[in-house]
Amino acid sequence: MSILTDKQLKYDTAYLRIAFEWAKLSHCERKKVGAIIVKDRMIISDGYNGTPTGFDNCCEDENNETKWMVLHAEANAILKVAASTQSTKGATLYITLSPCKDCSKLIHQSGITRVVYAKEYKDTTGLEFLAKAGVELLKLDIDETE
Ligand SMILES: [Zn+2]
Repeated sequence: MSILTDKQLKYDTAYLRIAFEWAKLSHCERKKVGAIIVKDRMIISDGYNGTPTGFDNCCEDENNETKWMVLHAEANAILKVAASTQSTKGATLYITLSPCKDCSKLIHQSGITRVVYAKEYKDTTGLEFLAKAGVELLKLDIDETE
């Protein structure tokens, strides 16, 4: 069990606030989620939920359902690293909403070892999976309106 120092908590809070700023950039109407990936105290990636590069920005179909092609914020952030020379091994993911079960698999498999999140998603299967996989989880209550 690692002890969260004041200094670490300050950094965690600051990075999570950046994730909230990134959430604002999402074109999705139903839900806006932001993610930041930090490694060795450097931001190596960022993401928000949205459609893939080159596709129409609109996330919802005519029935106001989220389009299947929309990528979640953490998936976008991880995939951005995959397309770069960086690695997510041992990195920390900061995300405004706790990951869904599909993204949890990506998080663990990409070598991310720590997840800091603000709000808890209604389905906690992802969090349970990450805990089982040995990924350190931290929930920080941040009010994004501050
Ligand atoms: Zn997801």
